[in-house]
This record gives sequence, structure tokens and C-alpha cells, in this order.
Amino acid sequence: MAPESVDLTVRTLGDCRIASPLAPLLASTESTEHYVDENDRVLFDDTVNMIAARKAKLDALPGFEPGGPRRKIFFQPSKTRVGIVTCGGLCPGLNDVIRGLVLELTSHYGVTKIYGFRNGYQGFIAKYGHPPIDLDAEAVSGVNEYGGTILGTSRGSQDPYEIVDCLESMSINVLFVIGGDGSMRGALTIADVVKERGLKIAVIGVPKTIDNDIPYIDQSFGFQTAFSKATESLRSAHVEARAVPNGVGLVQVMGRHSGFIACYAALANNDADYVLIPEVPFQLDGEDGFLSHLRRRVRERGHAVVVAAEGAGQEYLESGEPGQVDQSGNRKLKDIGLFLRRRIADDFAEHGMETSLKYIDPSYAIRSVPANPYDSVYCIRLAHAAVHAAMAGRTAMVVGRWRGRFVHVPIALAISKRHQVDPAGDLWMSVLETTGQPRRFA
Ligand code: ATP
Ligand code: MG
Repeated sequence: MAPESVDLTVRTLGDCRIASPLAPLLASTESTEHYVDENDRVLFDDTVNMIAARKAKLDALPGFEPGGPRRKIFFQPSKTRVGIVTCGGLCPGLNDVIRGLVLELTSHYGVTKIYGFRNGYQGFIAKYGHPPIDLDAEAVSGVNEYGGTILGTSRGSQDPYEIVDCLESMSINVLFVIGGDGSMRGALTIADVVKERGLKIAVIGVPKTIDNDIPYIDQSFGFQTAFSKATESLRSAHVEARAVPNGVGLVQVMGRHSGFIACYAALANNDADYVLIPEVPFQLDGEDGFLSHLRRRVRERGHAVVVAAEGAGQEYLESGEPGQVDQSGNRKLKDIGLFLRRRIADDFAEHGMETSLKYIDPSYAIRSVPANPYDSVYCIRLAHAAVHAAMAGRTAMVVGRWRGRFVHVPIALAISKRHQVDPAGDLWMSVLETTGQPRRFA
């Protein structure tokens, strides 16, 4: 089967005519080593079979525009005014990205006007009363040591026309949006209004998703920090479970639609006996259901550790009430961890088995920590790629990493679907191998 057909074309504001101020940094003018060749592409496919399935000539193979510095850029740095905003939930690394953007813009491109818009998209709307702050090297010094975002964030819909009014009135040329899928939808709307008005404002996204659920991006920033932190909770749950007869440790981790954190945390410490994720529905009751399996396991081995992603088993929680939504219209999930805690306790009691169940939900402790060194490196490199793209007049795109290379991904593509654990893929296979749980509870 030929791989999916995708449009990888990135929108640009116009021809690049200005010599990049990075020239002194990027060695001799003869060398094209650091500059990106504007005709180069990062191939979408990376196996011989995938390429063969396209039955296409090399230049017809789909490829992403590579990230990195261009010899010629679109914006005159001394006249460029930049805005940065963070939206949606917290994720480790937000401050690293903000700092990376500011330092690259100021130190290497010589941009002097950078505004931090506060509290998400509210920061562009006068009635909320959050005036932007000036950002420079001093303002972002050391911010990467802390979790959260120095700019603040928010949810809730704002009028893209009013946002563009604000950008126009402040003569902003480049807007960086650091946020999740909702924020990227917002960024695309802003880029579309900019286009509709014939303005030359680049809108560049740095995608933030602690759940690692953005497609066409190998891994999202903050994800590694998140699952490393979740691993600590699994370790605690394991120690607790082993310390008592028939102990059960239950950990709920983040993952609304994608169970990557649950899978990676379970693989990282090898102590989990069950991993429940949204992508793999499970049966609770019956001889082959999860509860019976868990009981048998505890009887045989004396204890068990269960990891559940927050989006797992939502089908059990659809009670009579209509689904609630948050300010941004995202469906509020019911609490699978609390539900499982009750059902496991009831089930053991019904079968006359004593148990001691310890429930751990580390979500907020995970979201708010600073990025680990790996994610910090990744954040800074994403920020560099975002600045290079913006200065070269790209727009309506996010920076990503595909097959280990930094690339430009059109926003429309990045929000077109969700990256999920493939129940038939090798990651889930590794989880089954590690936990010993059945392929399906059915
Ligand atoms: P997280 O994944 O952490 O929830 P997010 O970016 O998806 O991050 P949201 O609260 O969904 O968080 O959205 C952030 C901002 O983007 C909000 O101000 C919201 O109104 C806006 N937004 C969400 N969806 C859209 C959309 N379809 N069009 C325009 N703006 C949107
Ligand atoms: Mg979201």
C-alpha cells in the first residue's frame, strides 16, 4: 500500500531578497554547509518498501521543507517586530522555547523589538487588560530553570480579527505561537485573516503537546520530561504495592487521546503489569476481562501495578449527563483513575480477597516541572528552526522533527489528525512484552 498522500507545501510571504545577517556565524560564503538549499527536501518515507510503493521518480517523492538558516531572508531584521504567545495547558519546556526564540532573534538576527503577549490569545484583546511585555536577553535570563510559562496562558476562544487588529496596530511582522492543537487551529485562523487582509505577517507555531499526539513530528517537546517524571510515580506505586499483601498500585498518567506517556513510563521502569490506553479498548468484567486478570495476577504474584492513561476506558464513564466541555470547547474527560480504583476495590471485596490499593495521579506535578536536559536541548533547537523559518518569510507552519531532522510542517497538516499509539505497531508490542498483559481484555 502506498503511504498516504499529503500536502507538504509551506506558505511563504514572498521572495527572500535580504542577505542573512547570520553570514559571519556560518563560516565562508563559499560554504553551503549550514545554509539550507531552498530546493532540498526531507523525504517523507524512509524505507525502501515505502519508497517502492510510491512507484514514483525521486523528484516526485513527497518531502518536507528542511528547517534551518537561509542565505537570503524575507524580513529586514532591524525593522522586524516580533510577538510571542503561549496558549493551552502547561508543558515542560515552554520557557526554554521562549528563551530560545528571544536569544536567536536578538543575538543572531539583530531583532530588537520582541513583545511577549500575556495569558494566551487574551493578550491581544484589550478588554482583558494584559498589556504585552518587552522581551530581551535580560528578561529571559534563567527562565528555563522554571516550569510553567513566564507569559502565562489561557483557554477560551478569541476573535481572530481582533487579534490581527492588535498585530497590525503594533506593526508586528512575526508571531510565534507556542501551544497545542487548539492553539495551532487558532494560529492558522490568524494566518488566514492576515492573508485575507494582504498583510505580511508570518505566523509560526511551535507545537506543544505533553501527550505527544501531534502527527508528522517524531516527538514533541516536554514529552520525555513528562514520561520520566511519570516513571517516578510508577516506581512509588510498585514499592507501595509490594510492601503489603495483595497490594495494587494504580497510576493515572496524562494522555487524553494518545497513550504514549503510559507506554513509555511503563517501558522505562519495567514494573507495570497492566497498561491501559485510549487506543486499545478493554473489557472490565467477565472471565477474560481486566478485573479477573488483575485478581489472578495478584493471587499468583502478591501484587500488581496498573498504569492508566486519562483517556483510557472513557466508554465506561459515559453516564447519563451530557459531555462537559472546557472554555476552549475540549470535551472534559471523566476520571478513569477514580473509577478503576472503586471497581478494583469492589471486585476484590466481592471475591473475598483483601487488598490495599494505592492510587497516584501525578498529572499536575508532571505538567509544571522544568524540562529535563534532553527536552531543553530539543526546545532550543526547535526555537532556532522557528526563527529561521519566520525570518525567511514562511507562515502558517509549525516546526517539527521528522526522521530526526528539523522540518517545516504546514499547520493544516499538523492539525489534520492525531498521532496515536498503533495497537498493531512495535511500541504496543514492546508494552505487551514488558507487562505480559494479554493483547486484548475481551
Ligand atoms: P492543550 O493541548 O494543552 O489543551 P491547546 O492549544 O489545544 O493546548 P486549547 O485550550 O484547546 O489548548 O486552545 C488554546 C487556544 O486556542 C484557546 O484560546 C482557544 O480558543 C484557541 N482555539 C482552540 N481551537 C480553535 C479553533 N478551532 N479555531 C481558533 N482558535 C482555537
Ligand atoms: Mg488541545
